Amino acid sequence: MADAYKIIDHDYDVVVVGAGGAGLRATMGAAGTGLKTANITKVFPTRSHTVAAQGGIAASLGNMGPDHWTWHMYDTVKGSDWLGDQDAIEYLCREAPAAVYELEHAGVPFSRTTEGRIYQRPFGGMMQNMGEGPPAQRTCAAADRTGHAMLHALYQQSLKYDADFFIEYFALDLIMEGGECRGVIALCMEDGSVHRFRSQAVVLATGGYGRTYFSATSAHTCTGDGNAMVLRAGLPLQDMEFVQFHPTGIYGAGVLITEGARGEGGYLTNSEGERFMERYAPSAKDLASRDVVSRSMAMEIREGRGVGKDKDHIYLHLDHLDPKVLAERLPGITETGKVFAGVDLTRQPLPVVPTVHYNMGGIPTNFHGEVVTLKDGNPDSVVPGLFAVGEAACVSVHGANRLGSNSLIDLVVFGRAAGHRLGEVIDKGARHRPLARGSEEKAIGRLDRYRHAKGGSPTADLRLAMQKVMQSDCAVFRTEALLNEGKAKIDAVHQRLADIHVTDRSLIWNTDLIETLELDNMLPQAVVTMHSAANRKESRGAHMHEDYPERNDAEWMKHTVAWFDKGRVTIDYRPVHDYTLTDDIAYIKPKARVY
Ligand code: FAD
Repeated sequence: MADAYKIIDHDYDVVVVGAGGAGLRATMGAAGTGLKTANITKVFPTRSHTVAAQGGIAASLGNMGPDHWTWHMYDTVKGSDWLGDQDAIEYLCREAPAAVYELEHAGVPFSRTTEGRIYQRPFGGMMQNMGEGPPAQRTCAAADRTGHAMLHALYQQSLKYDADFFIEYFALDLIMEGGECRGVIALCMEDGSVHRFRSQAVVLATGGYGRTYFSATSAHTCTGDGNAMVLRAGLPLQDMEFVQFHPTGIYGAGVLITEGARGEGGYLTNSEGERFMERYAPSAKDLASRDVVSRSMAMEIREGRGVGKDKDHIYLHLDHLDPKVLAERLPGITETGKVFAGVDLTRQPLPVVPTVHYNMGGIPTNFHGEVVTLKDGNPDSVVPGLFAVGEAACVSVHGANRLGSNSLIDLVVFGRAAGHRLGEVIDKGARHRPLARGSEEKAIGRLDRYRHAKGGSPTADLRLAMQKVMQSDCAVFRTEALLNEGKAKIDAVHQRLADIHVTDRSLIWNTDLIETLELDNMLPQAVVTMHSAANRKESRGAHMHEDYPERNDAEWMKHTVAWFDKGRVTIDYRPVHDYTLTDDIAYIKPKARVY
């Protein structure tokens, strides 16, 4: 069957899949060390989802008040509800300032203080003095277009180092041999040719899978394709039950209003005009961590104090701020409010609702970006040739809940770390061992199956069914009954894949085929997320279980690892790293997470 396809071969030292912030930083790093590097991306690099990141990137530069990497580390550990690995978190927070200065030198046009330093704003959960407060101004910003600025700078730098870009190529699958990753198979969407990339290492930087839910702030391209490749390779995903809801998605549209809006003084009110966050988080108030604010909003709505005709959302006020502050610091969201809600932010409150925003779970890695798996009883055994960075990865620095502005820093710190590691472990230009015969067959078989799928379920219907189940049964509030029902429902949707209908057989610009491949990638992740959530009998970070409302460190301070094979999920657990990287800071012991 492969004979029917035109296959074009390529040899590289490194292939990076994904050109968001993480993929571009890894590409720039690998190419910068002299490795022959290819980047494969299904959308133009600067259209990657990172472009949407508004608020900024966390690093303890201390430009606008006292700060220290240990304070950033404390906040990240606390934000993670003690599920984050503290060696990786130490690495993230120590390396953050250097990674931001590198971005500055790479050309990111950060906003400036009057002294010309990088401007930093407060963000939820970011405090001074090991959580004691007051808030730290730690989030470095290029107005409210930080991700956009980063992508442009990193793409230009990657080109400068002669990385080759394969743009609008859809990566179909990994080439795995004997437990080792040897390359990637991709479809060129422009001409329908199939490409076999042989490489010494593959870096997956394919982003999150927010689109498994009905209301998401993430782009339509956020389908977790790399995560699905990992599941198909017989490897596990980690902590998939931890899905972050952002408190302020525009009601009805899902479009994000950055936490920076509350950082600049915005606040939330209910139908009684009450600033209810004062009750739920008396000290951090509207700047408490995202899960706390989302849950508080959901409580207000459940208790009948939501606003609007159906009392199903909340108001965000920026109308008390000086219009000059809005124009200077939040120009993008002023425009977004106008376009997506028809609201003039200088005069009216904005209707908002908690919306899926980030996936803490993903491909388990160590802090070098190397993919790890549970093998022969070793929870940290490395998969040769396979790396993952960015939202696709679970290092795990965000544990059960990510702090705002900690994703962009995760992208560049671990993208950079992967670049360093690749430079160390790869023999530049070494001759490739021949691949086994038929290395492309599995990927092409899957492509071929869907091209000719003529069942009774259109892709769009099945995708909607999946999204509705995830939104109703695996969202901010979770109960035993809801999750058990959700497992049965999502398993049933997954089974309907066998009955899918794809309208067109073409390999060229065939949106229906690509969306079907994406759905085939999303469904296993939805199933794994639901099953992992149903298995965790406690509440921690973003996983709020009404029947088990307390965090239970004695039994549940462990990472979920889940495999998916032929529709069945297998779950195991690996220990959280309860040690730091150096003696400069001791392990931060668990405490109640109050803001
Ligand atoms: P992405 O930017 O999603 O890039 C994924 C890449 O993978 C793309 O290039 C895509 O083409 C490629 N790809 C995927 N599948 C395939 C395939 N099959 N074949 C080929 N290529 C593929 N975080 C912060 O820290 N600060 C913020 O201010 C902030 N603001 C945000 C605002 C919004 C609206 C949202 C939704 C998120 C925000 N976040 C923020 C989170 C942050 O933006 C994301 O977590 C981060 O950008 C993810 O980057 P990434 O490089 O991992 O993936």
